[in-house]
Amino acid sequence: MEILPHKCGIIYGIVQKEVKKKKKNFWNRLSLQNRLIMLIVIVAVLGIAITALFSQAPQKEETPEAVLPVVIVYNDPEDDDIEPPWYYNESRADRYEAYAERKPGIDMEDIIWMVEADLDRPAYENMREATDLDSILLLVNKHYNLPEAYVPGDLVNIGNAMLRAEAAEAMREMISDAAQEGHNLWVQSGYRSFSTQTNLYQQYSARDGADIADTYSARPGSSEHQTGLAVDFNTITDSFGERPEGIWASENSWRYGYILRYTEENSDTTLYKSEPWHFRYIGREAAAEMRELGFKTYEEYWVKYVKHDGPGLS
Ligand SMILES: [Zn+2]
Repeated sequence: MEILPHKCGIIYGIVQKEVKKKKKNFWNRLSLQNRLIMLIVIVAVLGIAITALFSQAPQKEETPEAVLPVVIVYNDPEDDDIEPPWYYNESRADRYEAYAERKPGIDMEDIIWMVEADLDRPAYENMREATDLDSILLLVNKHYNLPEAYVPGDLVNIGNAMLRAEAAEAMREMISDAAQEGHNLWVQSGYRSFSTQTNLYQQYSARDGADIADTYSARPGSSEHQTGLAVDFNTITDSFGERPEGIWASENSWRYGYILRYTEENSDTTLYKSEPWHFRYIGREAAAEMRELGFKTYEEYWVKYVKHDGPGLS
């Protein structure tokens, strides 16, 4: 006899019900103890799976021997003889790749300078000692720090603060020009020693916890103020950035060799909140070049024009 299609449906339905019943019986038959054990096993397996999913792969150390070919980074099938930029470092090709995977949407040319500045590494881990300590172009941040004993050799007074001589001279000019345009600027904080920064950071992290303190205060050795090349203007408050003197400073500081160091746009790189009162002296030439190139952060300029000798500008 032929089985009609709708009968097949009925038989299938019955089979499904049996299967469900069996599943139910299986669970009901388990003792309370066994149910608990099964629940623990399920939770443990889920826990391991989630941990594995979210844990990052350990960072690979630089291995100059294991040089990856340029095509891995520049693997455009249309154009395989594309030249890497001058700040590309073959021995870091694996780090470029790993960072590009972590930061989708960022151009490879940006990935390269970021890794060149060690931004692929967590802040305050595997820190490097800043180089050329007496250069006005030195980089100090959460990846490059100053030795505890470092004190600039040419500090001079400016108001109640101190700056390196060249930075102080340019600052006096800036303050005087601002005054001529009716803006009152003064240096609230300039050079700070390692021990002063230690006290400040400890005070802030005791009050707000280290995670929050890290967004606005440098750990000792990592403060630009220890270079004698950084100033905090006036009241050191967010409102400074909206006041006429703050706007004037951000628009004109480059003429005197100063840059606004921590902005909303570069906080991913600097790992600081915006600080409209904090300016860093890098000299007139570099400040003008940074402006011409439209760089948002000093780390980029430092990699391309200080660490690696970039092409001349117009
Ligand atoms: Zn500052």
